[in-house]
Amino acid sequence: MSDAMRAATVTSFGAPLEVKEWELPVPGPGEALVRVLTTGVCHTDLHAAHGDWPVRPEPPFIPGHEGVGEVVAVGEGVDDLSPGDLVGNAWFWSACGRCEFCRSGWETLCPQQKNGGYSVNGSFGDHMLVDATYAPRIPAGADPVEVAPVLCAGVTVYKSLKTTEARPGQWVAISGIGGLGHVAVQYARAMGMRVVAVDVADDKLELATRHGAELVVNARSEDPVARIQDEIGGVDGVVVTAVSPAAFSQAIGFSKRGGTISFVGLPPGDFATPIFDVVLKGLTLRGSIVGTRQDMAEALDFYARGLIHPTVTTRELGEINDIFDEMEHGRIDGRVVIEY
Ligand code: NAD
Ligand code: ZN
Ligand code: ZN
Repeated sequence: MSDAMRAATVTSFGAPLEVKEWELPVPGPGEALVRVLTTGVCHTDLHAAHGDWPVRPEPPFIPGHEGVGEVVAVGEGVDDLSPGDLVGNAWFWSACGRCEFCRSGWETLCPQQKNGGYSVNGSFGDHMLVDATYAPRIPAGADPVEVAPVLCAGVTVYKSLKTTEARPGQWVAISGIGGLGHVAVQYARAMGMRVVAVDVADDKLELATRHGAELVVNARSEDPVARIQDEIGGVDGVVVTAVSPAAFSQAIGFSKRGGTISFVGLPPGDFATPIFDVVLKGLTLRGSIVGTRQDMAEALDFYARGLIHPTVTTRELGEINDIFDEMEHGRIDGRVVIEY
């Protein structure tokens, strides 16, 4: 093992990433060093590289939080991971384990949490560190390319669907059929729900149909609220993954009386909320952020049972700036996965 690694690095916000050498990190107590095999590219990595959000990481840093790899060394006190084990990193990289949120099943809200590819270096490098207590375990037999998007896109939309409290047989709308949304269609179907897909591009809607959406609506060429209300009388749950504040306001209109809208997308900005509709229709508006270790284990189990097949294109690390450019312009079908 040489003592250097290569990683796509954010050196300043908004600048192209640079593939640079870093010193190979040494796993501290409770950590493991992982040789990365694959990593998905999430739109969050693009927000990170642009410094889009109020809380920013500190350049230079290595994005990436859908990494899959093989443990090569473990730090002091690690007794449940050994070299050769397959693990992932995730946005939810670690938490304090002691606060009110950690104690009550809401560890993803821990104020002390660390985030992969943001506050801790991530999987856009050929090696990465993980926290042995928090790193997702990759199920035996998983394809390292296909499973990568489950580690963020999969767990996030699975948790978000759960928070809508929609039941089997009910309709949900998935707004935004990108990396997250195309997997959301599959989770919703596997959970027994009926799916309306909304996007602004017809090729994204074709992808949704292939993955099991029964109704698709192009929000650029028609009014999605009128169409969904006319056709099926509204939906019981909405998952908004669209990277557009306008989609957040529209989603409120998709909902049936008593419905729940779960916001997942993170475009910078605000959106208008019609108070009268929210109150009179008794709507629940909530945010949803990734998933706990238990949500992750469940999301991976759906994959292991053959119910989830992300649409992926494999690329190389050196193409990261092209990948970001294609993502920004909505030209990616499903998810891009980098293979090392
Ligand atoms: P993506 O770029 O792959 O997909 C975004 C999709 O939104 C595209 O298909 C695009 O065509 C569509 N879209 C754009 N404008 C739209 C509109 N007005 N109506 C409907 N669809 C529209 O991005 P992604 O990787 O799927 O991530 C989506 C968002 O979710 C990002 O903001 C990301 O940061 C966020 N995210 C949140 C969490 C969480 O836990 N809350 C986790 C992961 C990602
Ligand atoms: Zn992500
Ligand atoms: Zn905590």
